[in-house]
Amino acid sequence: MQASLDSFGRINRHSRQAIAFEQAVHALRDGMAGRSDLLAFGNGKSYGDSCHNDAGSLVQMRQQRSVLGFNVETGIVEAEAGISLEELIAHIAPHGFFLPVTPGTRFVTLGGSIANDVHGKNHHRSGTFGCHVESFELLRSDSHIYRCSTTENPDLFSATIGGLGLTGLILSARLKLMKVGSLDIDETVTAFSSLEGYFDLAADADEENEYSVAWLDQLASGKSAGRGVLITGNHAENGNFRTEGVKAKLGVPFELPFSALNRVSLGLFNTAYFNVNRLKSAPHLAGYGKFFYPLDGVGDWNRLYGPSGLYQHQSVIPFEAGRSVIPAMLEASRRAGLSSFLTVLKRFGDVRSPGFMSFPRPGYTLTMDFPNHGEKTLALLTRLDRMTLDAGGRVNPYKDSRMSAEVFKAGFPQWPQLEKLRDESFCSDFWRRTALVTDHPRGQS
Ligand SMILES: Cc1cc2nc3c(=O)[nH]c(=O)nc-3n(C[C@H](O)[C@H](O)[C@H](O)COP(=O)(O)OP(=O)(O)OC[C@H]3O[C@@H](n4cnc5c(N)ncnc54)[C@H](O)[C@@H]3O)c2cc1C
Repeated sequence: MQASLDSFGRINRHSRQAIAFEQAVHALRDGMAGRSDLLAFGNGKSYGDSCHNDAGSLVQMRQQRSVLGFNVETGIVEAEAGISLEELIAHIAPHGFFLPVTPGTRFVTLGGSIANDVHGKNHHRSGTFGCHVESFELLRSDSHIYRCSTTENPDLFSATIGGLGLTGLILSARLKLMKVGSLDIDETVTAFSSLEGYFDLAADADEENEYSVAWLDQLASGKSAGRGVLITGNHAENGNFRTEGVKAKLGVPFELPFSALNRVSLGLFNTAYFNVNRLKSAPHLAGYGKFFYPLDGVGDWNRLYGPSGLYQHQSVIPFEAGRSVIPAMLEASRRAGLSSFLTVLKRFGDVRSPGFMSFPRPGYTLTMDFPNHGEKTLALLTRLDRMTLDAGGRVNPYKDSRMSAEVFKAGFPQWPQLEKLRDESFCSDFWRRTALVTDHPRGQS
């Protein structure tokens, strides 16, 4: 079966070979799956090719979305891997619980959240998604279903959390939820006029708040360069547990023949966004949808980038290098004349993930979105990779569709451990493009 299973960046778009979940299970249980034949596909919210396997088939997981059990005393929920975080929230919120960690979109699946070990605005307190996974069931091509936890099959447990879907098919998982006063958030927005202002505020903000994230106006220049807003919050005691409907209020209904995002449109947007938020400095109640998932309100917003798609670059830079390297990376993008629509800066803390391939490490994480302008954009991204590695950091694999094998391997020197536990029937375009490429001398990959 052919299906349009693009990833969020929409860089390499074509129809792909897909198979239904049941068919994949039969092939795995009967020992009929060939080498590198399969890769699970959650909801395609990864930005690049880590959720693609053009040499084989994508296993469609979204129909596997039942809640299998929920203990309202312990806050442990068990669900099939294709359930979305949005569907999970609708199930758990009426009982006073929220996800312990959530990424910036609720349209991702439980399986995808484990395989990429996603992070949210509370990494400094709660670590990654995988830190809250009690156990999961993993189907491998030796036809066994492995129950994995820190005590049962611990090697597969730590390889699968952040293991990019390469260790087998996660069928279901048990997740420990967070008890909250309400879904809503007591939010505070603090404007800063320079990056130094952010660095001065950020550590204390993490200390005092469950959630913390900064938005930067990367297009501002001159006296306004480096300005932005720091958005912090905690679950409110006086809010409510009402969940929102799925539907985006706005949408981009069709493909634009060009990118609608340019220096002029973005400059106007950023200035308006900065000024509106600057005026919100008093603490106020924010709905959970607006706080955690502001972009989910605009359906298919990635289409605004036009038919060539977008690249996201997410790096993590160790704390000691952050104050010099982050401004230099922003300056490199400005000098290249490339505009990042969304520029986000956060701190990762030192809560260790059980997953040995997990992306976060202590430091500042900078995320930038660039329209694809071909070679010019690729040259900038390569430059940003180099700055990241030179600072002792790493680049996020599940946001990527073009980093070199050298950049990946330098950031994740533990990758051979994952290769050892990779199920031979599973592979991805990302893995083929990076880990499985024979090493080249530095700079030639
Ligand atoms: C607007 C937006 C905001 C985002 N914000 C954040 C953020 O704040 N933090 C963050 O960490 N990420 C963020 N992301 C990225 C996103 O959260 C991750 O890429 C997520 O893992 C995607 O999940 P998915 O279900 O769509 O899986 P896919 O993208 O389809 O797949 C992701 C990986 O999971 C594997 N996989 C999926 N299901 C299974 C399964 N059942 N068994 C085994 N492997 C499986 C796939 O093979 C693939 O390797 C954001 C993405 C968007 C579009």
